[in-house]
Amino acid sequence: MEQLTCYDCGETFPFGDAARCRCGEPLWFETDAAGFDWRDASGATAGGVSLGRDTLWRYESVLPATVPDGLAAAAGGTPLFRAPSMESPDGPRVHLKVEGVNPTGSFKDRGTAVGISRLEGPVGTVSHGNMALSVAAHAAAVDREAIILVAEDTPDSRLAMIAQHDPHLFRVRGDYGRLYDDTLERDLGAAFLNSDAPLRVAGQKTVAYEICEAFAPDAPDAIVLPVSSGGQASGVWKALRELDAAGLLSAVPRIYLAQAARCDPIAQAYRRGASRVESVEGEPTAAVSINNADPPSGNRALAAVAETGGGVVSVAEEVMISERDRLAADAGVSVEPSCAVATAAVRELTASGEFGSDDDVAAILTGSGYKYGTSDTDISSVREVDRTDVPDAVREVVS
Ligand SMILES: *Cc1c(COP(=O)(O)O)cnc(C)c1O
Ligand SMILES: [Zn+2]
Repeated sequence: MEQLTCYDCGETFPFGDAARCRCGEPLWFETDAAGFDWRDASGATAGGVSLGRDTLWRYESVLPATVPDGLAAAAGGTPLFRAPSMESPDGPRVHLKVEGVNPTGSFKDRGTAVGISRLEGPVGTVSHGNMALSVAAHAAAVDREAIILVAEDTPDSRLAMIAQHDPHLFRVRGDYGRLYDDTLERDLGAAFLNSDAPLRVAGQKTVAYEICEAFAPDAPDAIVLPVSSGGQASGVWKALRELDAAGLLSAVPRIYLAQAARCDPIAQAYRRGASRVESVEGEPTAAVSINNADPPSGNRALAAVAETGGGVVSVAEEVMISERDRLAADAGVSVEPSCAVATAAVRELTASGEFGSDDDVAAILTGSGYKYGTSDTDISSVREVDRTDVPDAVREVVS
């Protein structure tokens, strides 16, 4: 599994030789999964000890890395459950994939786990969010140097969260967008696990392996996920291609992507019917984790949608925030605003008739809401009460 290929022109490269195809598109690992069967997936052990639950290493036979020691062994294997409280009478069955259960609270751990297990020496990333936190934590777990390049305007609270894992943190002045390419094009002495790096995409495909295995021998009708760089969307598409080649899908699920309307270059290209994403001038949005105006794997994400017959949905800011509140209040799942676009998209696709009551839809809730706080949540309904008045006060609200 040492070859990288271009999804678009089919060109191949030995792993390590190129960051991008000659045509400019991102690469991914060539994986021969034709002989893969669900029976090959098994609960992995690390250091001779069972992990206590299934993790992404269940799919070790189709990954470019072997089961590691330490925190990376614990990534993936997240819950998927049906959430009737998120369904509407004429809508699909909604299944929530809760990626916030990963070690650092987001799906980014899947890509980091595979990447750090395969690479040697220092690792780095260009991120000030979940990816930075994930790389810092996983590097700490195996006593590796981590180089984390954050944007100049990264709030101190974020820096502190990353800094607790003791990486080398750099606040970078200047064009932060260019930095992504700089770290790929130049040898900095550290291997950069940026958002659509082939190793990261390999790890992130396991979320779709888990979803499809849960439905085997059938398959969900659709998988809906938030998209930013297009790295995770690429991983999901790659998984579906592999599982289809292995004959394990009764039908290939359609891939639907969701963006915040304030920064939605992939959705705009989709609406234009284009196969190429143009960068946009995004506006600030509460969906900080999916705020990418120039997505490096945007074209590949669009191809995933086109090939599977899915779509791309833009979600208005207020709709996204109320959906985030609804997920917490109705389904009991706390997410960042960036994740709420997924179930908001399910609602919009139900309203437009794209999803019906015969459909099974899996929505990927990419990251936990507990990390970043919910300072905008209305707490005016909190009651102040004396201890002696508690019995009466409680009886009043439960009656
Ligand atoms: C990174 C991230 C995304 C977007 O993933 P891409 O691979 O960049 O498209 C979505 N949600 C959360 C919570 C994230 O951290
Ligand atoms: Zn190419």
